[in-house]
Amino acid sequence: MVNVSGMFSESSRGLKSSKIRELMKMASKPGIISLGGGMPDSPNLPFDDVKEIINSWNEERAIEALQYGATKGTNSLIDRIKKRMIERKAIDMNGQDIIITTGSQQALALVSKLFLDPGDIIIVEIPSFIGAIAAFYSFMGKLEGVEVDENGIIPELMEKKIESLIKSGKKVKLIYTIPNFNNPSGITLHKERRPEVLRIAKKFGIPILEDDPYGDFYFSGKDEDYYPIKSYDKDGLVIYLGTFSKVLSPGIRLGWIVAAEELIARLELQKQSFDACTPLLSQVIAEDYIERGYIDSFVEKMRSIYRERRDAAIAALEKYMPEGVMWTKPEGGFFVWVTLPEGIDPEDLFKRSVERNVAFVTGDAFLPREYPNRYIRLSYSNLSPEKIYTGIRIIAEILKEMLVKV
Ligand code: PMP
Repeated sequence: MVNVSGMFSESSRGLKSSKIRELMKMASKPGIISLGGGMPDSPNLPFDDVKEIINSWNEERAIEALQYGATKGTNSLIDRIKKRMIERKAIDMNGQDIIITTGSQQALALVSKLFLDPGDIIIVEIPSFIGAIAAFYSFMGKLEGVEVDENGIIPELMEKKIESLIKSGKKVKLIYTIPNFNNPSGITLHKERRPEVLRIAKKFGIPILEDDPYGDFYFSGKDEDYYPIKSYDKDGLVIYLGTFSKVLSPGIRLGWIVAAEELIARLELQKQSFDACTPLLSQVIAEDYIERGYIDSFVEKMRSIYRERRDAAIAALEKYMPEGVMWTKPEGGFFVWVTLPEGIDPEDLFKRSVERNVAFVTGDAFLPREYPNRYIRLSYSNLSPEKIYTGIRIIAEILKEMLVKV
């Protein structure tokens, strides 16, 4: 075989296989209790609803679902999402538009492609989503982390950081945030901090990339408590990402971007060379799924299932974890972020846990390169409360054994 690696582009040469993907291969043995992947609950995926929808189609509808379609998405799905954005997220759609994407992962890549030149800076929360970090690196962006507390990004720190980066001649192109139940930390940006983050973005003229896959899965309160930063945006500065992955299914691969009309037109141009259009089959299913009201009943049902699992995770952490371990208390979403005591190597803990049939994700995947890791992410979304309890008990036992030796 002729070796062509010397021909690879500069941007792809910089990509490395993430250690986490290698580690997760170890964790794919049968019977393992996996607190690893951030997946929606498998047994509750709405297979019956999807079957019923497809069975109801006449020939015309079936052809629509199996044909090519517009790059931007079907008008009828866009209209239904627009209505939801106005009614459920309080977003003012005047001057704003929507493009349907192949999952919000594609949206992250499209936005990165639109804004980033090599070396440009993206402000990210510490910690932040692995898939977004991968997208930024793949377009040769550089990450600058901003510390968070239990109320999310600390606005003063972010302002100072941006100021000093700009002073030193750096181009800060995007502020990336997951304000609701962050993946991986589970932390929520406090309602009162949202306009403040927007004010800072406006001061420097930097777009906010707001990623909101978990916003519907709050465990107390109401929609208003989790309105996105986009709902405060009067200047078209926020690019909002939504997805069907948690409110319908990840296999359907459907997401959307809400942004100023001019930006959506630019993103549409980019998307033409990515996939021409997002699968029509998925779009037609999603359209009917919203129209029949299934989306709302599903969210309602899953919210209480995930709440019960969050409660199990927190109860197990409180009962079993040794002194010196800390964790977040998510108000929604799928994840708890655990800080390990000084001297404990997360990778070592992972290997020992896998030997005892329990898996999770080590924190380094969610941190900019070279950032020291003392963390693990536990995902409770795809496990019964009993398994969550057992998994956390076993991790705690191993930690106690390791602490004796530290
Ligand atoms: N952003 C965040 C914060 C996520 O957690 C995920 C998926 N877990 C995505 C984006 C990607 O979602 P999708 O399945 O829509 O590509």
